Amino acid sequence: MSHIVTESCNECKYTDCCVVCPVECFYQDETMLYIDPNDCIDCEACVPECPVEAIYAESNLPSQWNSYIQLNKDRAESLKSSGHITEKSEPMEGPGCKKK
Ligand code: SF4
Ligand code: SF4
Repeated sequence: MSHIVTESCNECKYTDCCVVCPVECFYQDETMLYIDPNDCIDCEACVPECPVEAIYAESNLPSQWNSYIQLNKDRAESLKSSGHITEKSEPMEGPGCKKK
């Protein structure tokens, strides 16, 4: 089990989540953040931090975002060397970000 970053993070990247993670398991690419399921300890600290409610426990994940389970795993793996994020940065708030 793990927590999953879903579509709502896309082009928002508020990055409030990674600051509170005790095991530093967030990774980012140009569009969103991902959680490494091998490191996440399901502490839930990140869930209330996200302004767009993009993060869910896998057990609580709305079915339309099932594909994000594999996506978080795959992207976290390939971003291991370049995309580790542990500190808040300027939000992206691109055109695809639903929170304005
Ligand atoms: S706080 Fe939410 S929107 Fe911001 S980076 Fe984390 S998951 Fe994405
Ligand atoms: S649930 Fe806890 S361990 Fe998992 S990503 Fe969120 S803050 Fe990190």
